[in-house]
Amino acid sequence: MSPSPLFYQAGPALPEVSHAKGVYLWDETGKQYLDGCSGAIACNLGHGRDDIREAMLAQLDRVAFTYRTQFENAPAVALGQALVDLTEGELEKVFFVSSGSEAVESALKLARQYFVAKGEPQRRHFVSLRPSYHGSTLGALGVTGYEPLEAPFADIVNASLKVPGPDFYRHAGAGDAHHVEHVLSDTRAAIETAGPETIIAFVLEPVGGASTGARMLDRHYLDGIRALCDEFGCLLILDEVLTGIGRTGAWFAYQHYGVMPDLLATAKGLGAGYYPVGAVLSRADIVDTVMASGGFQHGHTYAGNPLACATGLAVIEVMQRENVLDNVAARGHELKDGLQALKARFPWVGDVRGLGLLWGVELVTDATTKIPFPAEQNRFARITALAKEEGLLIYPRRTLNGVAGDHFLVTPPLTIRADDIAELLARLERAMYRFDLELKRE
Ligand code: PMP
Repeated sequence: MSPSPLFYQAGPALPEVSHAKGVYLWDETGKQYLDGCSGAIACNLGHGRDDIREAMLAQLDRVAFTYRTQFENAPAVALGQALVDLTEGELEKVFFVSSGSEAVESALKLARQYFVAKGEPQRRHFVSLRPSYHGSTLGALGVTGYEPLEAPFADIVNASLKVPGPDFYRHAGAGDAHHVEHVLSDTRAAIETAGPETIIAFVLEPVGGASTGARMLDRHYLDGIRALCDEFGCLLILDEVLTGIGRTGAWFAYQHYGVMPDLLATAKGLGAGYYPVGAVLSRADIVDTVMASGGFQHGHTYAGNPLACATGLAVIEVMQRENVLDNVAARGHELKDGLQALKARFPWVGDVRGLGLLWGVELVTDATTKIPFPAEQNRFARITALAKEEGLLIYPRRTLNGVAGDHFLVTPPLTIRADDIAELLARLERAMYRFDLELKRE
C-alpha cells in the first residue's frame, strides 16, 4: 500500500477499518474490536443501525441540504424543539452547528455578543478549568486547559483565566465539602483579581471528559459556581459536548445536579456517529437581546441542514423508544463494579470514577502514593495498544504534569448489552494483566 497522505497522528500505521455492527468493528484483516469508547465518545447507539439508516435515507430522498437563511426545514425545527423539551423548557433557543468545537465557539461568541448588546463591552474574558478540554478551534482552545494542546498556540489564542476545579481523588481525606470550599474561595479570589466586571462567562464540563479522565464535580461545587456567576453578573456555559444526550444516564449531566446553565453546548452523541451535528442551547432572553441588536454575527454553512437534523431526531427517537437511559443506568453499574474489581487487583490503578457510561481509569506508579508515571513513559499509549491487541478500543490521555496521571476512558455505546459489558471487562482484564507483567519485568 502506498503511504497515506493523511497526517492525523504520529506513530505506527493504523489498521484499516472494514465494517461495523452494534458494538463491534472489524478491520480488513478480519480482526474484531469491541468499541469500548464509542469511537471518540460519539457512536452512542452503536454501529450499523437500520432505523437511523432509514431515517437518513428518507431525508436524503427528500432534500439533503438547504441553507439556514433561505429555508426553514422541518427536521431542524423538530430537533430544536426536542432539545428544548429535554431541558424541560429551561433553555428555549437552539443554534445548530456541526461539531463540539463549533458548539463551544458559538456559545462563547453568543455570550460575548449578549454583553455587547447589553452595553457591557468591557466583559472580554472567560473563566475555565485546568485541566479541561473544550475543542480545537482557536476560541475553544482559548478556554481549554490542556498544556500539550495549548503550547504551540499560547501566543496567539485569547486565553481564558484558568482556575483549578475540585479534585476528589488527590484531595480525598480533607473532606469533600472542605475541599470544595477551598477551591471556590480560590476561584473567587482569582476572579476578583482579574476584575469580575470583565468576565463574560464561566465555561465548564459538568463531568470532565478527555482531558481529565472523567473527573467528577459535585453539586456543592456547581452551586458555588452558579452563585459566583450570579453575583458577578456573568453567564454559566456548560460544555456538554461529551456528556450530553444521555452519556451520564440523564439527558444532560447538569440534570444530576440541578444546576441550570445559561448556555449549553452539545454535539458528539447527538449525531451518534451517523452525521456531524451539534447545538448551542440558550436562555431565551440572551438570544432575544442579541437578535434585537441586529442578529447573531456568526454561522456555519452546514448549520442545521435537513440531513443533520433528521439524523439527530432519529437518534433522540431511538433513545426514547428503547429507554436507553435505563440501559445506561443498569450497564453503568455493571461497568463500575467490573472496573472497581480491576482496581482492587492492580496496584497501579489509582482511581476509577464516572457516571452512567462515562468512566475514567487513572494510572499511577502506586495507588498508595498516587504519584503519576513520568510523562515521557507514555503509559497511556501502551495500555491502549495492549487493549487494541486484545480487541478492545479505549480512549487514552497522557499524564498532565503535576495535575493528573495517565488515564483512559471507558465509554461504550449507550445501547451495549450485559454480555458485551462482560466481554469488554474480560478483554480489558487481559490487557491490564499484560501491562502488569510488563511493569513487573522492568
Ligand atoms: N468539548 C468537549 C467536552 C469535548 O469532549 C470535545 C471533543 N472531545 C469537544 C468539546 C470538541 O468537540 P469536536 O471534536 O466535535 O470539535
